[in-house]
Amino acid sequence: NIERGKEWLQDYVDNWVNFYQKQTDEGKVANYIPRLEHADPNTLGISIIGKNGTIIRSGDTDSEFSIQSISKVLSFIVACMERGLTYVLQRVDVEPTGESFNSIMHLEINQPKKPFNPLVNSGAITISSLLKGKTSDQKLEPLYQLLEKILGHRPEIDVDVYVSERDTSMRNRAIGYYLLEEGYLESDLSITLETYFKHCSLNVTVDDLAMIGLVLSNDGIHPNTDETLIPKQIARVAKSLMLTCGMYDASGKFASYVGIPAKSGVSGGILAVVPPRVREQDLPFIEGCGIGVFGPALDKQGNSIAGIKLLRHIANQWDLSLF
Ligand code: GLN
Repeated sequence: NIERGKEWLQDYVDNWVNFYQKQTDEGKVANYIPRLEHADPNTLGISIIGKNGTIIRSGDTDSEFSIQSISKVLSFIVACMERGLTYVLQRVDVEPTGESFNSIMHLEINQPKKPFNPLVNSGAITISSLLKGKTSDQKLEPLYQLLEKILGHRPEIDVDVYVSERDTSMRNRAIGYYLLEEGYLESDLSITLETYFKHCSLNVTVDDLAMIGLVLSNDGIHPNTDETLIPKQIARVAKSLMLTCGMYDASGKFASYVGIPAKSGVSGGILAVVPPRVREQDLPFIEGCGIGVFGPALDKQGNSIAGIKLLRHIANQWDLSLF
């Protein structure tokens, strides 16, 4: 009985959201982008959308928050769609750094000489420079259009968050100048940074993240329209990057304990992808699903504390790990 099954899943997720909501340890809301400090550290919400149409939503699913680093997955995808995978991977590597997301140190030591991966700031800023278009709005139009097709609505920038980051982000400027000096950037530095800050400030909900995850799970095809929105090969590289680099210097732990591709952002969001599995048992979401989580209290690596705990719990219970 599918309805009973759904009820059971819903109760289960509700219980654990309640439980983990209070499990934020010493976690802190990000404040280096001043506008992010307003978030409530005890918020926790999750949305799980399955290919078979099952939707489980629990906790704070209404809050809008800025997508932050999760957008790096999308800018990478769009750059690959515009320029081709080979062109992009010649300019940005696909190796984890083991350093924090905004580290500047590793830039000097990487061999071959290019930013380590598109999901740390140096790589993502380089990707922003590769996007076609003269102005930041022109560069981001294809990304907005992709999101519009995935979500069914056009995403909007949280102008306060954008201005707050634009006016304070000295570290990203430092990274930008270094990239400029090394000849990595293919467009003007100020437009490149504007593009990067804008896509980090896009407002989303956990449902939006779950939908993005679902399309990635389905190899770039929207399950409702059957339209291919992302070429399979690009979706595949994006998911490998999420698995190896998506949770920054905690990516190894996340892969070991949760075992699915995921990408976090400093506002507390996590986008997770559960690929379909070939198995006999009747496990939930056997056909794959996308998961969106929001919990703004962060650990030292900049990942949502309650969000990771909740994902770890669910992944273990439902046997979601790829491995
Ligand atoms: N916009 C943020 C920054 O550049 C994104 C970082 C993140 O979400 N980890 O610092």
